[in-house]
Amino acid sequence: MSLKKRFWSYAVKVLLAVMVWLLYMAFIPLPQSVPILEYHMVNTTSTEVYNVPPQELEEQLAYLEQEGYTTISMLDFLRARKGKQQLPDKPVILTFDDGYIDNYTTLLPILEKYGMKATVFIITNDIGLEGYLSWDQLRDMQTRGIEIGSHTANHQPLANMDEAQADDELRLSKLLLEWNGIRTVYAFSYPNGSYSSETPELLKKNEYLAAVTGDAGLNSFKTDAYLLQRINIPRPHFGLWEFRLRLLKAQLCTRLGIHQHISE
Ligand SMILES: [Zn+2]
Repeated sequence: MSLKKRFWSYAVKVLLAVMVWLLYMAFIPLPQSVPILEYHMVNTTSTEVYNVPPQELEEQLAYLEQEGYTTISMLDFLRARKGKQQLPDKPVILTFDDGYIDNYTTLLPILEKYGMKATVFIITNDIGLEGYLSWDQLRDMQTRGIEIGSHTANHQPLANMDEAQADDELRLSKLLLEWNGIRTVYAFSYPNGSYSSETPELLKKNEYLAAVTGDAGLNSFKTDAYLLQRINIPRPHFGLWEFRLRLLKAQLCTRLGIHQHISE
């Protein structure tokens, strides 16, 4: 085959591949999916694996902004699920577990700089302890657009508890938050990602509307609201590339229907 012919045969193959790809993209669109990112601490001092230093967090938020993502609250997601609200084109939920004080001192100003919202899940028996948020800080965060959810009273894995104890953890943490001026608590985060097959029912009974796990993946309106999946974001070793890879991996898992249950 002459060089010219080989070139054209190659070009036709490439063109066909591109056309097939375009058809695929056009006719098999992914359903709208909502990534929920899982963070914990944001400070410059802790070397913990679950501390994302503020500079790295800013890089990640700037990337999300640049990619056209809009932050929404858990309540926005729940309302949209019932058809009561429209979601933006590329919604994302930022969640912060445990209620560390740096969520007020360091995270909040960064979120305000980017005009973003977030949901903070609180261990109610740690409120006011050293290193944790105080009631005043929580109430102030709430007025500044932060959504408050429960992360139980004592941060014990729910899967190993008897029902009465698990029920206490869910009920008392919610009541305490609401008695202290926090708006109705709808959202819940499982400590250590641990839950049993009965936990969703217990959450429903205690008037929670949704819960986030540590299981990896994205969410659609069809995802069980009590088993929402998250993308864990620990302290990155490879900067923004690692963050992008984590988002990509979640998309891939969702597309391939891979469900990873992670219970630490
Ligand atoms: Zn936790």
